[in-house]
Amino acid sequence: MILIDDRFLPESEASVSYMDRGYYFGDGIYEVFRIYNGQLYEKPAHYERLIRTAREVKMRLPAPIETIDDRLTELLERSGVRNGILYVQITRGVAPRSHAFPPAETKPVLLAYCNELERPVGKMQSGISAITLPDIRWLRCDLKTLNLLGSVLAKQEAAEAGADDVILHRDGIVTECSASNLMIVKDGEVSTHPADHLILHGITRAVVLRLAEENGIPAHEIAFSLEALRQADEVFLTGTTMELFPIVTIDGVSVGGGQPGPVTRKLQAAFEKTIPI
Ligand code: PLP
Repeated sequence: MILIDDRFLPESEASVSYMDRGYYFGDGIYEVFRIYNGQLYEKPAHYERLIRTAREVKMRLPAPIETIDDRLTELLERSGVRNGILYVQITRGVAPRSHAFPPAETKPVLLAYCNELERPVGKMQSGISAITLPDIRWLRCDLKTLNLLGSVLAKQEAAEAGADDVILHRDGIVTECSASNLMIVKDGEVSTHPADHLILHGITRAVVLRLAEENGIPAHEIAFSLEALRQADEVFLTGTTMELFPIVTIDGVSVGGGQPGPVTRKLQAAFEKTIPI
């Protein structure tokens, strides 16, 4: 079941125009919601980010957010997915290829679907490996847009190196991972890059910072170096589909003895309690 604008279509009938600006320019925005037990997790935060991204890229939404919410809720019900993701993207619409915005009457195109996806408990427990790479993305990484080539190339480089993910840095300052935020733990204190234009303002990141505070774990939104990353006691990433993944190997060197650390474990347990039953 695919939602295109306001039509619910079987996958075999769903299609978009070759003149869609999302296809030519990556001229679109998106969100990925986590579905836990048939409910959208942190729904208001995702809508807030979608609205902000639309505003920042000067794109109008195809309908008021309440109407979009009604349609996505219906999609979720019709899809029957209990645990998984809901993907929604909105492009600036269909128009002959020309970089500047299309005529004002051009309708944005919304596309959404739900997929089953179990919680990746194996990787949450064992942890993953990562390599470090220069962050070659643009300077508005706070916007959740379809322009993902920087992340695609980085993730591919990790795959070719036999690693699970990549930790990006700009001139030695660690930003985030290819599709998740990064946190380090040193002497029991958490640090993560400030929510500025260089990282996506992750919703899981915000939840984890709140949980750290509630659990008496000092947490700092502060830039830190590759050197600090290498000296960290614990490293973990946060993201909608991953929740918290410990990173136990970086560039082939193990972090904190190669096992997920106690602060990561504590935050994982706290996160699990926020999942609706
Ligand atoms: N950073 C990047 C570059 C991402 O693409 C994502 C998610 O897709 C995140 C961070 C994590 O954000 P969230 O926790 O909202 O999924």
